[in-house]
Amino acid sequence: MHTYKKILVAIDFSDYGNLVANQARFITDTFQAELHVIHVLDNIPMPDTPYGALITLDQPSKDLLLQAEKNKFTQICDAMHIAPANRWLIWGVPQEEITRFAMQEKMDLIIVGSHGRHGLTALLGSTAKNVIFHAECDVMTVHLRDDQ
Ligand code: AMP
Repeated sequence: MHTYKKILVAIDFSDYGNLVANQARFITDTFQAELHVIHVLDNIPMPDTPYGALITLDQPSKDLLLQAEKNKFTQICDAMHIAPANRWLIWGVPQEEITRFAMQEKMDLIIVGSHGRHGLTALLGSTAKNVIFHAECDVMTVHLRDDQ
């Protein structure tokens, strides 16, 4: 048996994000753990930026799309009362960056939604599936349904 000290919740900007965030907060408080939030940017062309690059939140960006993503992420993290040092905005492929980052930062638990922006078409979304398969720590999926 082991407890969870560092928990990473992966947040996309889908309608289900709040449910995943709330569940992550509950689990974190239950274990008196530290909660980190990751969002992987995969929808803005960033040709000069290598995958895995950390996007700073405290400097405004000239790119309006990027600034809009930063604002959304900041709002979500503010609502979750996440310390600025535990907010991770990263450029890349979500399933790869979530597991790589969790390993790098020695997370004990990753929390993902069962589904996200890609909808409820399959039993389990592709990001969730890949994270479960490749993660080297425990993974919790928050089961999301159409009627939530
Ligand atoms: P999906 O498999 O894409 O339907 O998404 C399932 C879950 O993976 C979501 O509920 C999020 O927890 C996580 N996820 C998906 N895309 C991202 C992303 N770009 N950044 C962070 N987490 C994500």
